[in-house]
Amino acid sequence: MTNRKQLQEHQAYLTNVHNRVYTCANCHCHITTHAAIMSRAFQGRHGPGYLVGKVVNVTVGVKEERLLMTGVHTVADISCMVCRAKLGWKYLRAREKPQKYKEGRYIVEKSKLSRENIWSDDDDDGFDRDCY
Ligand SMILES: [Zn+2]
Repeated sequence: MTNRKQLQEHQAYLTNVHNRVYTCANCHCHITTHAAIMSRAFQGRHGPGYLVGKVVNVTVGVKEERLLMTGVHTVADISCMVCRAKLGWKYLRAREKPQKYKEGRYIVEKSKLSRENIWSDDDDDGFDRDCY
């Protein structure tokens, strides 16, 4: 139980009321927002993926060189901080100049996310909702 409490204390919540929130499909922990998605035309390992500018509540794994559809990139897998599900990867470095814009961005598999409308001030039961 100590471990669970620690995670809870470090967990970030996305509270921009103008955004729809995407959560981990497995544990419903907040991962990213509608506004942070830069492109939906990407390919993850297991199907469609999103190119995302900012994510929260993920851990970044070991970096490795990977041959992707657009050439060799230095990437690191990202996993949900809470349930450890693999969500996609982070682009650390791209070799080709046209691919440089991806550096520091993330690919998140569409199938690993679920959509959740963020609560508004007049929606009180939203406050009871969290990862557990
Ligand atoms: Zn999760």
